[in-house]
Amino acid sequence: MRVDPILLRARGTPDSQSLTAYLAAGGYNAWEKVLQMTPEAVTAEVTLSELRGRGGAGFPTGRKWSFIPKDHPGPRYLVCNADESEPGTFKDRELIEHDPHLVVEGIAIAAFAIKASTAFVYIRGEFVRWAKILERAIAEARNKGYLGKGVLGSGYSLEIVVHRGAGAYICGEETALIESIEGKRGFPRLKPPFPAVAGLFGKPTIVNNVETLACLPHIINRGAKWFASIGRPRNTGPKLFCVSGHVQRPGVVELPLGVPFREIIFEHCGGIRDGRELKAFFPGGSSAPILSADQLDVRADFDACAEAGSMLGSGGVIVLDDTVDIVEAAANLAHFYAHESCGQCTPCREGSDWAVDILERILDGHGRPGDLELLQRICTYASGGMTICPLGDAFALPIASMVKKFAGEFERRIAAATPSPPRKKPVLPWSGPSHGFGR
Ligand code: SF4
Repeated sequence: MRVDPILLRARGTPDSQSLTAYLAAGGYNAWEKVLQMTPEAVTAEVTLSELRGRGGAGFPTGRKWSFIPKDHPGPRYLVCNADESEPGTFKDRELIEHDPHLVVEGIAIAAFAIKASTAFVYIRGEFVRWAKILERAIAEARNKGYLGKGVLGSGYSLEIVVHRGAGAYICGEETALIESIEGKRGFPRLKPPFPAVAGLFGKPTIVNNVETLACLPHIINRGAKWFASIGRPRNTGPKLFCVSGHVQRPGVVELPLGVPFREIIFEHCGGIRDGRELKAFFPGGSSAPILSADQLDVRADFDACAEAGSMLGSGGVIVLDDTVDIVEAAANLAHFYAHESCGQCTPCREGSDWAVDILERILDGHGRPGDLELLQRICTYASGGMTICPLGDAFALPIASMVKKFAGEFERRIAAATPSPPRKKPVLPWSGPSHGFGR
């Protein structure tokens, strides 16, 4: 299927980062239109479009905005989440790179809808290039009166501040992100209260992903019904899929929600590289449970991925060919999440480290009978709401799915194992879990 790009329409346009190019393409028309509307009408239009958050959770955007207490007298904030820390995810940078004013316009529309006069862009520390692009776009928009005091002669004022994080995976989680903007260590907060009630500096706050915000100018310009006509019911609109791994043409592709993964991988990304076979794929970043090659016809949308036992997440499709050792892939993934665990919750802190130990042991040829059951048990205790934030699920669910779907690969290694040699190195208190069970 060939579709005209909507979100990536500026890709390939010369000087597409400039305000001049953006205005020539009809930029800021939606913003002017919104300034003639009420915040409630903007929220109603976005709710009607059925737009769901593109950052990972897929929560309906209009509904999220409606959680802001209506009678709150003081400030409230909008935060654009540009942290994009999920492995296999690089779509937000593509949007900022080619169409930064689209993101700025989306931020302005969302801020207006929730009656915020200050918005923040939280961007990962390493993304210096994209932070600068955004800062330039914001300054340009402000100079022309699209931002600042009394926007375009209206009674509405808006300032946008770009805030660079220090580069922690967990700061993509909205409450950790809020802590980080407040100048604290990025520790996720217990919910409730949810940020919409008590978020940044204790004030009502909405955190929306870059791609979610980039959809807003299109919804306002072309209408909620037009947006809802793309994709499938409850899974509407265009979606950016970042395809990486063993495909011929990795990159960001824009397609309607609901196209099968087969089409994304084989039609738009040229299929598997070097004539190899597909083994498996992560449909939504590395925190999504893995899907096997026989699940290629699963539709790439929120509901279909959930029905298939996984999730669409950020839309980061990581493709693995038949050369991949799944045990190695699981160990690699466990290492990443163990490193990124903030340490507040025992099942996440200890469980991820313990999973690394077990997987490394299996890889070293010293796997033990019962290791897979133990691994599954650790994953069960770390997922399903047992932790403050979803990082527990993020490490546990993909590993559990790899053990379940590719049990033979793990079992073969364990069957060929030799007994573990005695530990040579002392276990230091800071080098791993404090317990010794199952080690
Ligand atoms: Fe920290 Fe992990 Fe708990 Fe999240 S789940 S708060 S990352 S320890």
